[in-house]
Amino acid sequence: MTVTAEKQKMFSLARSRAVIQWLAVIGTFLIGVRHILPGEESTGGAFDSFCAFGGIETLLPYLFSGHTLKSTNLLNFSILLGALGVGFVAGRAFCGWLCPLGAVQDFVTGWTRRLRGEANHVRGKMGKSILPLHLPTSIDRPLRYAKYFVLALVLLASVYAVYPPLREFCPVRAVFGLKMTSLLWLTLVIFLAGSILVERFWCKYFCPLGATLAIFNKVSPVRLTVDDAYCNDCGRCDIECSMDIEDVPRNLDHPECVRCMECLETCARDGSLILKIS
Ligand code: SF4
Ligand code: SF4
Repeated sequence: MTVTAEKQKMFSLARSRAVIQWLAVIGTFLIGVRHILPGEESTGGAFDSFCAFGGIETLLPYLFSGHTLKSTNLLNFSILLGALGVGFVAGRAFCGWLCPLGAVQDFVTGWTRRLRGEANHVRGKMGKSILPLHLPTSIDRPLRYAKYFVLALVLLASVYAVYPPLREFCPVRAVFGLKMTSLLWLTLVIFLAGSILVERFWCKYFCPLGATLAIFNKVSPVRLTVDDAYCNDCGRCDIECSMDIEDVPRNLDHPECVRCMECLETCARDGSLILKIS
């Protein structure tokens, strides 16, 4: 009886995340639509001004000169503060729950699994499909640092920039912006191909906003913990981790964790993983 109640709670958590992710995707798509309507861009600000990372891209220019970069404005800082606030409370939960790009990657992984014949993916069991791939550690490990390099590069470039440095290669603009250039088409193809091949490809390797939020996993009060009295190290949560974190129960504050709660939903031993506020 207790088990059923626990599992029902988990399923409602999974449904809540899916609903929130769809709302984020639809909301971002509508912002994109708004900016291709005649006359809207001149009155409503640019698509870029709704981007949390835009706040980081324009931060140094604003501090040094008092002006934001073109296509950004003070709204970027408000949205960035919101993302940092979520980070302060719940680590990279922004990536796992609210980011439209994170949502698109999760949807692509789900659709890819279905197309590969895994319509009924069993949680915690290794599927037969070769996708998503798990890159060899020798490639995966160094690539994980690329997002910190991208962040540093963008910050440096922003000092000399007129527009946000990532603007021409931004996957959010490529997926939702509806005003395409050759570079954005190329970005879209790479983003979708990467997401088909590797789960959360952009989050793992290249997202500079994820790099910014990673630090919060160590300090946020809302966190997952393990109770070793219940956990039997079965490894089911490792299989389901969207960020491929090794030995999940011992690495619950890992900078790569996007707080998706897939491990919590997968664990078959109630009481092993606990979501708590400390
Ligand atoms: S937390 Fe749960 S799923 Fe993960 S190893 Fe422990 S018992 Fe298994
Ligand atoms: S450790 Fe758990 S919450 Fe974190 S990314 Fe992996 S499955 Fe999601």
